[in-house]
Amino acid sequence: MSEQYDVIVIGAGPAGYAAAIRAAQLGMSTACIDKSIGKDGKPVLGGTCLNWGCIPSKALLDASHKFHDAKHGFAAMGVKVSGVEIDVPAMIARKDQVVTGLTQGIQGLFKGNGVTHLAGRGKLLKDRKVEFTANDGAVSVLQAKNVIVAAGSVPVQIPPAPLTEGFIVDSTGALEFQSVPQRLGVIGAGVIGLELGSVWNRLGAQVVVLEALKEFLPMADERVSRDAEKILRKQGLDIRLGYLVTSAKVVNGAVEVAFKTPDGEQSVTVDKLIVAVGRRPATQNLLSADCGVNLDERGFLYVNDVCETDVPGVYAVGDVVRGPMLAHKGTEEGVMVADRIAGHKPMVNYDCIPSVIYTHPEIAWVGKTEQEVKAGGDAYNVGQFPFAASGRALAANDTEGFVKVIADAATDRILGIHVLGPQASEIVAQAVISMEFDGSAEDLGLTMFAHPSLSEALHEAALGVAGHAIHMVNRKKK
Ligand code: FAD
Ligand code: AMP
Repeated sequence: MSEQYDVIVIGAGPAGYAAAIRAAQLGMSTACIDKSIGKDGKPVLGGTCLNWGCIPSKALLDASHKFHDAKHGFAAMGVKVSGVEIDVPAMIARKDQVVTGLTQGIQGLFKGNGVTHLAGRGKLLKDRKVEFTANDGAVSVLQAKNVIVAAGSVPVQIPPAPLTEGFIVDSTGALEFQSVPQRLGVIGAGVIGLELGSVWNRLGAQVVVLEALKEFLPMADERVSRDAEKILRKQGLDIRLGYLVTSAKVVNGAVEVAFKTPDGEQSVTVDKLIVAVGRRPATQNLLSADCGVNLDERGFLYVNDVCETDVPGVYAVGDVVRGPMLAHKGTEEGVMVADRIAGHKPMVNYDCIPSVIYTHPEIAWVGKTEQEVKAGGDAYNVGQFPFAASGRALAANDTEGFVKVIADAATDRILGIHVLGPQASEIVAQAVISMEFDGSAEDLGLTMFAHPSLSEALHEAALGVAGHAIHMVNRKKK
């Protein structure tokens, strides 16, 4: 008889490992299959997020920000430094250490919670069976009462720019450069393209970002994307909008990139090219033809709003299903599914998923943009507060950006909060909490915030919805 589990999870990224840990906490016998191999050739847990995504990119963003600040920001604060240098291999090695610490941490959590880690590939068969191919090639069939598919996503590749070792790389390759390229091209001005472009720009590369769309960050609030574009251009990112890359090839040790622009065909030569044109669900060799799970029209595993596939007892969570490809969205789905298998009835609130872009200043938001609210047709009010008027931001010499609160005119209910500014990723958490509790702008305005703090900008923006901000002259007086 095949081995039996209450729950088998395929994939140990933030969606899968969280699902496995919660399932085990709830007393279910749980196995988690993952095929990822780390730099040392050994199996690693944590998926894209820990190994090739969120964490390593933030390690490089933080290191490059400190370097840039030491070189260009310290003097304004009266701190004199000279001979500041970047040691790229040391920066990459530290990033690897951070990753290793965290992935080993997941191993510890699996052990501590009693999750069985199966290193290898999983394939969903029919009747909640899973074919497991261990890394040594041994194949077995496991039986589960419930299966959670959390296979994640992989970078999209485009035929005009085939990956070429050392020259044309995807986001994973861009985390491994051993020196600063003099000229760097980035295809795609999405979240990943802007973050990786910022890292190498801060370290001294001339960075050109080629984006097919004419608008910059169309998913963000218009005022935020407009100001962010200006700030990032000022930092040196050469952002070219309406540029469709049509070919990229290595010629004489450099990459020649050709593109269609609003003014005709053009080209640029760079030392390295990062392809950051999005990610797609990792469905290759994941589902047997008769397993019963269907894909949606975009190639994601089809699930309903509680992550159930078309097969009873088979669930899918994270990047492999619809919705924003974000680690925290996958984690919440994974935990929800484990809880629901145990008979609880939680739901994920898809209206309250925070988005963050870790440039400097950071860009973060939750809820609707002003253009979405406007298109909806209901009357609304906006309060906005600049960091240039925040005591804490001035003290830190970090004053670019603003907080914007949008509330329904009739009910004052908060519809969206947008932050461009220092620590926007932390400030937006307060916005998420207020929206989760169905808060009004007045509720936030009546809440006390520590002084001096960057969060006071959120307080003032909320007060500004009714024209009552204290530290700025309100345009609408009531
Ligand atoms: P993944 O993390 O992709 O994990 C899936 C795992 O399943 C992988 O280990 C994979 O090898 C394994 N697997 C797949 N198929 C099989 C199979 N058949 N058998 C066994 N194992 C299998 N998101 C954020 O929220 N914040 C950020 O700051 C952020 N930064 C990012 C930066 C970069 C450079 C990148 C690339 C991504 C970033 N993301 C960020 C996105 C984030 O990494 C993903 O949304 C998240 O990892 C998705 O989690 P997941 O568990 O669904 O899948
Ligand atoms: P995201 O999906 O947020 O990571 O963003 C990827 C970006 O890459 C999108 O804004 C796409 O418009 C852009 N993109 C995709 N293909 C090309 C291409 N051939 N040339 C330039 N930009 C592209």
